[in-house]
Amino acid sequence: MRDWDRRANRIASAVALVVGILSAPVPAQTRTILAGRVLDVETGALRPATLIRVEGGLVVDVVSAEGRDRPADVVDLGDLTVLPGLIDTHTHVCDETHTGDRWDPWTLPAPAFGIIGVVNARKLLDAGFTTIRNVSEPFYAGVAVRDAIARGDVAGPRVYASGPMISMTGGHGDWGNWMGPPHDDSTPAEAVADGVDEVRRETRDQLRHGVDWIKVAATGGFASAGTQPGAASYTVDEMRAAVEEAAKRGRFVAAHAHGAAGIANAVAAGVRSIEHGSRLDDESIRLMRQHDVVLVADLFGAHYSLVEGNEDWSEKGITDNAAEYEAYAERVARAHRAGVRLAFGTDAGATPHGRGAEQFALMVDAGISPADAIRSATVVAAELLGVGEQAGSIAVGKWADLIAIRGDPLEDVSVLTEVRFVMKGGEIHRWERD
Ligand SMILES: [Zn+2]
Repeated sequence: MRDWDRRANRIASAVALVVGILSAPVPAQTRTILAGRVLDVETGALRPATLIRVEGGLVVDVVSAEGRDRPADVVDLGDLTVLPGLIDTHTHVCDETHTGDRWDPWTLPAPAFGIIGVVNARKLLDAGFTTIRNVSEPFYAGVAVRDAIARGDVAGPRVYASGPMISMTGGHGDWGNWMGPPHDDSTPAEAVADGVDEVRRETRDQLRHGVDWIKVAATGGFASAGTQPGAASYTVDEMRAAVEEAAKRGRFVAAHAHGAAGIANAVAAGVRSIEHGSRLDDESIRLMRQHDVVLVADLFGAHYSLVEGNEDWSEKGITDNAAEYEAYAERVARAHRAGVRLAFGTDAGATPHGRGAEQFALMVDAGISPADAIRSATVVAAELLGVGEQAGSIAVGKWADLIAIRGDPLEDVSVLTEVRFVMKGGEIHRWERD
């Protein structure tokens, strides 16, 4: 063997060794959480001190701590209350629309959205949201953020990502309709499609880009000048094309819908969730129940823009912001009482990232019990995402996604805004000790 051959061989085997070490499965961290109390979100009961054993990113044992020795690998959370990681099913992690006039997406290069997403993803995880469904984002930035988090490159929740919201020409997702003409017609920042064939093609294209969800605009919106929030946009057939294409890949469709006509169209088309539903009526409730469509009611989003944001909505036909919010809250509570499943979603992006847990108190104010409000962000949210077997409660075999707070969230849900401990996939992301 010539000298350089031998050297090449040595280099090759060194590389193989390093690659072998790097790609060898990292021994999964085994830990035992000692929780002061555990909230059983399924039953709404608080359990006393509990040991939760975590291995390979999963919960492998949940037992009462009473009379048991502390294992050597114990993570003692003192008197903190542990519950499953929260799930926000309506976020825009790469958006900062809540900053109002300072947010001008046209001036941003596409990669900026990914960077913004990385910053916000950490804020969401810090706040206890271990999973999000990201509904509508320009440039597939949410897909890129999802993958960076999944690789472990950056901190953030598990992300179920959609592409840009598919919208008709002149609809809620057509930027050119309300922000001036686009700089570049080839930009994938938005997804304008008309007619069954175009919607079908756009849906297929988005699936090719690796999205987990399809989002369509079934009605106009509040933030887009030139559209009427209550007015239907897509036809049943157009949305059904999206539902059919998504179903071929085991994916689902979320429909942005405020008014009753658009909700009825979206439900008839077979969507899995209605986003916002701010002007739903009794017929919407009946249809959503009949077809088991989940309502993602962003009370925090509405409260932020209508009450806290104190914007002038008069040009959009809203003369009394507070009354508009109260009417929405009342409709959401009515839908919940009638048996419509509620999944927690805050419109993060349109609201400040990291403040989503403030929605729990708004839900309780609307007449929803604390246990049901928490269920919307755990059990029901996981079911909506199709991961009811993996997430949404603390149980053997599920993901070790846990948060801990001080106090009793059943007595005061606002304690959920101060998360002290966050574990995702068995790894401690944050632990604020006294
Ligand atoms: Zn939204």
